[in-house]
Amino acid sequence: MSPLLVRSMWGLGDSIYARPFIAAASMVRDVWLETPWPELYADLPLRFVKGDRPLRTQTLNAARQPPGLWRQPPAGAQEIRLAYGNAELARGSVVQGIESKLPLPAGVKPVWTLPELGASPIDTRGSPLAIIRPVTRRAEWDNRARNCLPGYVDEIAGDLKGRGFSVLVLADLKVGEEWLENGRIPPSNAALTNGELSMRQMLAAVRDAAVVVGPVGWIVPAGLALGTRTFCVLGGQGGHNAPEKLTDPRMDCSRLGFAMPKEFCRCTDMQHSCPKAIPDLMSQWSDWRRNARFRFPRSSAHSQAGRSPGGQSSVSATTRQKARATTMPTTGNMSNMPPPALGTG
Ligand SMILES: [Zn+2]
Repeated sequence: MSPLLVRSMWGLGDSIYARPFIAAASMVRDVWLETPWPELYADLPLRFVKGDRPLRTQTLNAARQPPGLWRQPPAGAQEIRLAYGNAELARGSVVQGIESKLPLPAGVKPVWTLPELGASPIDTRGSPLAIIRPVTRRAEWDNRARNCLPGYVDEIAGDLKGRGFSVLVLADLKVGEEWLENGRIPPSNAALTNGELSMRQMLAAVRDAAVVVGPVGWIVPAGLALGTRTFCVLGGQGGHNAPEKLTDPRMDCSRLGFAMPKEFCRCTDMQHSCPKAIPDLMSQWSDWRRNARFRFPRSSAHSQAGRSPGGQSSVSATTRQKARATTMPTTGNMSNMPPPALGTG
C-alpha cells in the first residue's frame, strides 16, 4: 500500500479525538501526519509533517519541536484531510466525522489515550488540584455562541476554592488575539494565563488534577483520555456542541459531566445569541459530583462538617519538580505568588 499522508485537524481537542484512528492507521500503513501537536502521538510509529496555518498556539507549539522532527512527505502518498463541518455534525458526532475520513480496520475498537506526558510541574503541597479553563474569545476563531456565560465558571471555581481545592486557572491569552470574555480571572490560587505551560505540562497537570472545569474545548477529550473528572459548562451552538456531539458511545464518560442551559440552543451558528442561562447551575454541579463520586478534600478549613473525606488524586511533587516549578517565570495577574506552587490559603 502507498504511504498515507494524514492532514489532521489543528485543534488540540480534535487531535485527541483523532488519536485512536491515527494509531490504528499507523498499524497497517506508513503514516505521515501533519499536525502541530506531535507530542500527542509520540508513542506511535509516525513521521511528522510540518504544516502552515495561521493559528497562534499551534504555530508556537510547532516551533517548539526539534527541527529534525519534521519530514517531507513522500511523493505519491495517498492524502486524507481530517476535517468535519456542518454536514458531518448534522449526521453525527465529532468522532464520527473523523471516523468517516479515517475508518478503523475491521475488528478494531477505538480507545482514547495519551502517551506518557512526564511529570506535572504543578505542586499543590498535597491539596487536590482543580484546573479551571476560563471563558475566552479568540480573534482567529471567534466562537462566542459556544461559550458558556463566564460567570458560571467563576461560580464553580469559587466553590472549589472555598472548599479547599488548589485552584489553578490555565489559559494562553494575548492582547488582541485571545482574551477573557468577561475580563476577569476566575477565583483561584494561581493563574497561568500567558501560555507558561507547554502542552505536555498542561496535560500532565490535567492528568494529576482532581477535577477540571470549563467551557466546551479540549478539556472534554483530554479529561476522557486521561480519566480525569471533568465538568463542562455548556453555552450554545448545541448543533455542534451538545454532549452527544462531543462524546462517543465507545468512551467511558463516567467521569464527565455537563451543565446544561435551561433552553439549550441547538443552532450551528458561531455568532448566534444563544440563550445560555442555567438557573440551577449549582444543583447540576452538586448532582454531578455525587454521580461522579467526586468528593471534597478532607482537610480544609472551609470544608463543611459531615462531608465525605478523601479528595482524589492529590498531587505529589518531587524535589526536582519543585525546583523547576519555583524557577518558572512569574507572569500574569497573580505575579505576587510563585505560579505553580499552589497553596490553599
Ligand atoms: Zn444558538
